Amino acid sequence: MTNSVTAIIDGESLTGTGAPFTVVDPSSEEVIAAVPEADGALVDRAVASARAAFERGDWRGASVEERQAVLRRCADAIDAAADEIADIECGNTGIPYAQVRNGQVVRAAGNLRFFADYIGQMAAELYEQEPNYLTYVRREPVGVAALISPWNSPLALGSMKVASAIAFGNSCVLKPAEQDPLGLTRLVEVMQGAGLPPGVVNLVNGGGATVGDRLVRHAEVDCVSFTGGTRTGKIIMSAAGANLKPSVMELGGKSANIVFDDADFEQALDGALIGIFSNNGQQCLAGSRVLVQRGIYDRFVEAFVARTKQVRVGHPRDAATEIGPLATRAHYDHVMSFVPLAQDSGARILAGGRRAPGFERGFYFQPTIVEVDSNAHRLCQEEIFGPFAALMPFDTDEDAYAIANDSRFGLVGYAWSCDIGRIMTAQERISAGTIWCNTPMIRDLRAPFGGYRDSGVGAEGGRAAEAFYTRQKAVSIPRRPLNLRKLGTTA
Ligand code: NAD
Repeated sequence: MTNSVTAIIDGESLTGTGAPFTVVDPSSEEVIAAVPEADGALVDRAVASARAAFERGDWRGASVEERQAVLRRCADAIDAAADEIADIECGNTGIPYAQVRNGQVVRAAGNLRFFADYIGQMAAELYEQEPNYLTYVRREPVGVAALISPWNSPLALGSMKVASAIAFGNSCVLKPAEQDPLGLTRLVEVMQGAGLPPGVVNLVNGGGATVGDRLVRHAEVDCVSFTGGTRTGKIIMSAAGANLKPSVMELGGKSANIVFDDADFEQALDGALIGIFSNNGQQCLAGSRVLVQRGIYDRFVEAFVARTKQVRVGHPRDAATEIGPLATRAHYDHVMSFVPLAQDSGARILAGGRRAPGFERGFYFQPTIVEVDSNAHRLCQEEIFGPFAALMPFDTDEDAYAIANDSRFGLVGYAWSCDIGRIMTAQERISAGTIWCNTPMIRDLRAPFGGYRDSGVGAEGGRAAEAFYTRQKAVSIPRRPLNLRKLGTTA
């Protein structure tokens, strides 16, 4: 068993005295850590530490160059510890090692470097239309940010929140998901040695309804950033709203991947597979509803099913593995529960739909494709959040948009066509926060990432993060002494 850090406060790693929760390796089902939960007093201390750092002002008052240097040193420290962090993360999440080491750890360092660069290019608004005055807009940090992250991609998502909060001068308290907190906890420890003033980045471990709830309702927290499920997002946004705290919500998805009949067939096929099976299928932005135009439907289905059956399920540390185990027993049961639903409702299971063969232990689920007749099916309306695609044909482009938009979610849309006119229409007609045309996932950190409808409120990314993590202050100054009315001089 390793790492039982309950909290990181004022730069110090602490082991609490609260009831321990266990952390499991999803490939073996073995308990790999027992983490004493942060009790109320520790959560309060973490927030107090963040508040004290903010009020002290050595971080928010530091020059941009100084903050950039620290953010870049944090990124360098993550690079230096990349193998160790990836090793911990792989063992806790079950995500294949190569995807963690070359993807998520690199992204974590990249998030810090991106925001270091970003703050060096910030500009302010100046209004001169009023001839006697200059009015300009200052951007000031908000204060203490509560950051709540999910279990599916802890390093990439947690580091994005920390990097964007602190780059603008805020302090923060991060709560990783209780299912797999080990990698993110180590990452924050590694950052502490890179020159952050104490209290700028704090962390508390524990459950959502306990530690998370106390954090988001804390009177000394000024804003809340959440990534996770839609139901939880509604609870957290209500709690934040009741105290007039701004919040950003990055929530679930059920995104349509539209393959038109004139698509580059091989690219669309590769993209559809990447879109549903990356990160063990556990991704908000998955293209989990694959819509294929009738003329190429049979050919596409045959190839999609054949390739899916060859996707290599394996131990996350095996270099050949393309899909590892699902993250937890509860999540495995959740994904598996959609199999009888498919069987009992006339949907056709074309691949998978069962425990991956060859594994007696571990949460291994076989990559699954189910063909459905209607988008109204629960398989098309609910987020399964696993390597589980729903497939259906469409006839006209209008049909494709109607199906794509018939969802309470609106996170991402994918469209594949070699006709630029069709692509231009698709990017307009699909109702979602991000549209990927002729490509699977690409994240440009300058652009906003946020969802429509039940997929979220607000966005992360360059200017969206600047807008969220800073307050605007309008300042007016006369250009020269004013001829002011002289009240009280008439007596
Ligand atoms: P979840 O909502 O169960 O938990 C997310 C986090 O919230 C955890 O840290 C949890 O402890 C905490 N939490 C739970 N209840 C809380 C409460 N009452 N107060 C404060 N904190 C609380 O979500 P999950 O199952 O961990 O994550 C999967 C979900 O996240 C999926 O729906 C997925 O689509 C979504 N997601 C969205 C994005 C995005 O950018 N839009 C990215 C990744 C994941």
